[in-house]
Amino acid sequence: MENNVPRVRFAPSPTGFLHIGGARTALFNWLYARHNDGVFVFRIEDTDRTRSTDEYIAAILDGMKWLGLDWDEGPYRQTDRMDIYKKYIRKLIDEDKAYYCYCSPGELEQRRKEAAGTGGHMKYDGRCRERKTPVPDVRPVVRFRMPRDGKTVVEDLIRGNVAYDNAMFDDFIIMRSDGTPTYNFVVVVDDVEMGMTHIIRGDDHLNNTPKQIHIYRALGCNVPKFAHLPMILGSDKTRLSKRHGATSVQAYREMGYLPEALLNYLVRLGWSYGDQEVFSRDELVEKFTLDNIGKAAAVFNPEKLLWMNGQYMKDTPSSKLGELVMPFLVRDGILSEGHALDEEWLSRAIDTLKERAKTLVDMAKSLRYYIAEEVEFDEKARAKFLNEKSLPYLEDLRDAVSADDDFSERSLEEIFKAIMEKHDIKLRKIAQPVRVAMTGGTESPGIFEILDIIGKEKVIKRLEKAITMIKVS
Ligand code: GLU
Repeated sequence: MENNVPRVRFAPSPTGFLHIGGARTALFNWLYARHNDGVFVFRIEDTDRTRSTDEYIAAILDGMKWLGLDWDEGPYRQTDRMDIYKKYIRKLIDEDKAYYCYCSPGELEQRRKEAAGTGGHMKYDGRCRERKTPVPDVRPVVRFRMPRDGKTVVEDLIRGNVAYDNAMFDDFIIMRSDGTPTYNFVVVVDDVEMGMTHIIRGDDHLNNTPKQIHIYRALGCNVPKFAHLPMILGSDKTRLSKRHGATSVQAYREMGYLPEALLNYLVRLGWSYGDQEVFSRDELVEKFTLDNIGKAAAVFNPEKLLWMNGQYMKDTPSSKLGELVMPFLVRDGILSEGHALDEEWLSRAIDTLKERAKTLVDMAKSLRYYIAEEVEFDEKARAKFLNEKSLPYLEDLRDAVSADDDFSERSLEEIFKAIMEKHDIKLRKIAQPVRVAMTGGTESPGIFEILDIIGKEKVIKRLEKAITMIKVS
């Protein structure tokens, strides 16, 4: 059957959360499918039952959905497909392309030790290759008959041709003695059954590929095209791991990153398009090709990701950021559950903050001083700015604001001007104490903006509080 529709897949093992590297693999497959009007298949490789959990499956699904990497087929689960694998194992045995091996783990261990003693590398020696009769009371494994000489060439779309001496390999196990099939075998069966045309995955799988190529051949199937993605390293140039800080998609979500920013950052780990850094999703779909993936390992740089997120925060409409920040306000105890905020007000508040907030968590933190009933003071700021010197300005401001029915940016400017003239001071002298009285700290958006957002009633309350604090201290 001639089928021109490209079919690719993301096939994570649910032995952990969705990792940055996994998410990048998923993204590249997704982009490949979308760019080529292909099909993106999602498959859970959970044959390792001791390490796979339902919790991780749910977390991976959740991460994919959050990133907006929608799949066209699946999620398939390998544990639902055991009968299919058995059928293929049977076929290979019947055709003598695989065989039962009765060597016990103890015997293999013994041989390994002997090989180590002579400095040799332990490969299975093929002892059961020609065995015709079963060994009573022993549950055998099934081994795949690998060629013993010659070479296998992996024609990789990113790496070029990579040749392996077949002498490197042994007759590897495709079914354990408990009847469960192994990764190198099931991955091929699934990729055949699911009609994969391209296998795009991390290059930690490159060395498995020659074995898999022989299984395709043994099954009489076309070998798909391979594209092995360069590794992702941490700042110290070792493979990215927990030692380098947060590495799961979930962790970035909880730290207040936007999925679009994370995707944009991930795509640049290995793929490039001239010097361009920021891409919309549509642009990525339009521009993504495997040709633009480099061979060199990519270094994960959390600061750059943070910068990227800041760019996306700036470009996201404030009303949308308002929706996105709500769960963080509740989670971080800034807003009680079920408490609604006026959407229009929240949007205006966010307008004043989005230039500097790098994450939704930053944003929530800054919103605290707009929302909270009580200001939390930074002690240093309080001591420096809320004191006898600023007291008369704060009192004048309180009186003037109380009498100001307008409470607009213009009327506030007038009020400030009058106080500055009366005391012969610069704006800074009054703005900083007011800023501390309003926000607890010395950094915030423009003073008139924040007064406007906080609103007359709360402004007066906060001025009163600052005045009282100065007086009793
Ligand atoms: N399940 C494998 C993994 O999570 C991926 C297999 C593949 O892409 O071929 O590493």
